[in-house]
Amino acid sequence: MKFVSGLTCHLCGATYPAQALWVCSECLGPLEVTYDYAAIKKVISRSAIESRPRSLWRYLELLPVESPKTGFNSGFTPLVKAERLAHELGLSELYLKDDSVNHPTFSYKDRVVAIAATRAVELGFQVFGCASTGNLANSVSAHAARLGLPCYVFIPNDLEPNKILGSAIYGPHVVAVEGNYDDVNRLCTQIADRYGWGFANINLRSYYAEGAKTMGFEVAEQLGWRFPDHLVSPVAGGTLLPRIFKGLREFRDVGLVEGTLPRIHAAQPTGSAPVIRALESGAEFPDPVKPNTIAKSLAIGNPADGFQVIKVVKETGGSGAMVTDDEILDAIQLLARTEGIFTEPAGGTTIAATQALIKRGVIRSNESVVICITGNGYKSAEVMRDRVAAPTQIGRSLADFDRVIGSRLKVPA
Ligand SMILES: *Cc1c(COP(=O)(O)O)cnc(C)c1O
Ligand SMILES: [Zn+2]
Repeated sequence: MKFVSGLTCHLCGATYPAQALWVCSECLGPLEVTYDYAAIKKVISRSAIESRPRSLWRYLELLPVESPKTGFNSGFTPLVKAERLAHELGLSELYLKDDSVNHPTFSYKDRVVAIAATRAVELGFQVFGCASTGNLANSVSAHAARLGLPCYVFIPNDLEPNKILGSAIYGPHVVAVEGNYDDVNRLCTQIADRYGWGFANINLRSYYAEGAKTMGFEVAEQLGWRFPDHLVSPVAGGTLLPRIFKGLREFRDVGLVEGTLPRIHAAQPTGSAPVIRALESGAEFPDPVKPNTIAKSLAIGNPADGFQVIKVVKETGGSGAMVTDDEILDAIQLLARTEGIFTEPAGGTTIAATQALIKRGVIRSNESVVICITGNGYKSAEVMRDRVAAPTQIGRSLADFDRVIGSRLKVPA
């Protein structure tokens, strides 16, 4: 916390100490962590960062915690140069930021929870929890187990079975609420208030959001300390996209990277696309929608940080694309077939949105592109059930193999 100057209201600029605060008492705007960038600039360097452990804790000067406490190596996931997928999409330089292998629970949420859980301990919360569409609950549950904190995770009651199991295994109280994510979130706000529990994405949200910046830090570092031309991010509650931007901007402000920031594009499923609809209509704030999509991780109809997403997309010259559930499934398959990465529908959404942006001429073939892959396909594998071929059934002898498969092959002489 050496370099944290406090919390600042995103709307009116009022300032607060870095405590368990999340909304401005003047105007109810969201509070953002601010830093003394001049002081950071004096002490930070590429070589110092490169010499540190391969996790998000390597960016400690720009994170709002006293010290790492989780014991997990979250972050520093691969930035994959995707040559086969690039070829299919007609691009020359494509990278995938692969959080499907994030630690410990295989989604981008391990970044935000690393920071929120650490801060929950530092601020003395006795119970840790969240309102979740699935992945957040997995990560909060794992972190609570590791830290020995009592844990309550709240989810909508229509989640994929494996996402529920992926929380329950760590032993939290899993509470399935009759309603959608937006109902869950409203209830949790009231519980946080009444019981004084630390909710990662509610009263710890200012800190939680800072974890998402590390995706931006890593992209710039892993590209060799430079920015891409384009970055495509999924949008649910709207934490990730503006924080990738904040991370990239901070790297420029403290002198680690020079150059033009990328155009940042938002991707949402058509069945839950309040931000894309606002971008298309020119509205500053998204109108809430009722989500209906297989992309459950992105099924948030009333995104808390929607207006920040819209602002950043416009400021960077970015754009938005919404894609149908069918396009999402096609894209999951395309990614698996070309790059050997199995993502969940959120990742299919960013791939399909990139295809749409290429088609519209927003992204051109000679420009560099980073696509965020934020979750792992094994958690929601059932969405692909009708898309994959059944195994070829054969008997146990070589003759069986020869008859069914070998007869169609050329046998070497
Ligand atoms: C939560 C989540 C997102 C995006 O979330 P934001 O709330 O917009 O930060 C994207 N992909 C996956 C897999 C997620 O779990
Ligand atoms: Zn304010």
